[in-house]
Amino acid sequence: MSTNSNDIRNIYCIGRNYRLHALELGNEVPDEPLVFTKPSHAIVPMDGNVVSIPGNVGEVHFELEIVLRIGEAYEPGNDIEQCIDGIALGLDLTLRDVQSKLKAKGQPWLAAKGFKGSAPLGEWLPYPGAAALAETEFVLLRNGAEAQRGKAADMLFGVAELIQYVGENYGLGASDIIYTGTPAGVAALQEGDLLQALWADKVVGSCSVALV
Ligand code: ZN
Repeated sequence: MSTNSNDIRNIYCIGRNYRLHALELGNEVPDEPLVFTKPSHAIVPMDGNVVSIPGNVGEVHFELEIVLRIGEAYEPGNDIEQCIDGIALGLDLTLRDVQSKLKAKGQPWLAAKGFKGSAPLGEWLPYPGAAALAETEFVLLRNGAEAQRGKAADMLFGVAELIQYVGENYGLGASDIIYTGTPAGVAALQEGDLLQALWADKVVGSCSVALV
């Protein structure tokens, strides 16, 4: 299954969608989905390439997330699972120190979350169905050591709920994608880090990090 990154339209992202991650950053657990977007220029592949990230604006955190690809436009009342035609693992790279300053000033997150290359994206896999998606574990290895482990069953707002919420409020059409939030374990990247994203113990994306 291939999707050229040039084909991707809107990139929606969900913040604080895993309880332990919200708490590890000292945030409250939200009572409705926290949605933000990234420009499409944020997408870069995770196919063994080098990802360049800003090296002079404080900590850059990794956040490994399940990414949903929409194949069929959301319409109220339709079968929500029918909308999804693929999944991937992706990184929501975040300038954490920049974000902390923006949050303190009540400003939008674009500068922290939307920089070029801030959305590395692994290979597309067929949508496995709700039950398999909920229980399959995904893992981020950093330099071979486990950094994050999660499963969609632990999301505060599940896949169907997210699609309905985003579709009704902002619209969802073919080639839109949704980063569904990250489990606990986020931390700052270092020069040369090798990142590997595993879905059911299989590597479905990898890249190394260059601070520039
Ligand atoms: Zn995130």
